[in-house]
Amino acid sequence: MLTPVVDEDGAPFWGYAAQGELRVQACADCAEPRFPPRPCCPHCQSFASEWRAVSGRGRVWSYVVPHPPLLPDYAELAPYNVIVVELADAPRIRLVGNLVTGPDAPLNSFPPDRIRIGARVQVVFSSAGLPQWILERP
Ligand SMILES: [Zn+2]
Repeated sequence: MLTPVVDEDGAPFWGYAAQGELRVQACADCAEPRFPPRPCCPHCQSFASEWRAVSGRGRVWSYVVPHPPLLPDYAELAPYNVIVVELADAPRIRLVGNLVTGPDAPLNSFPPDRIRIGARVQVVFSSAGLPQWILERP
């Protein structure tokens, strides 16, 4: 099972995700969202930040289907997908995840040949608190 690797800057992201909530860090001065989380705003250099709730809706911006050689735990699941999602309410924010058929569905649950760039997706959370993605209209 995939589990989050939490660092100090990203800890709030994972804390909200564990509660089933997708939030992105945003500057408390100029309001620009940023990802990955980091102490300083790249737009205005402010160190003030907040965690803004987003809808969890987005579009597939890009994807890959990893091929061998893969780490043993992943080799068992191949072929699976890794998608990049552009958030609907923060289009400059792109999150990496997997398109699956439901919360806690395996990485290989969605057939790679059915993935389309631009497809509308919605976040779901695994029981480990990992954001995953499902088609908005399966
Ligand atoms: Zn700023």
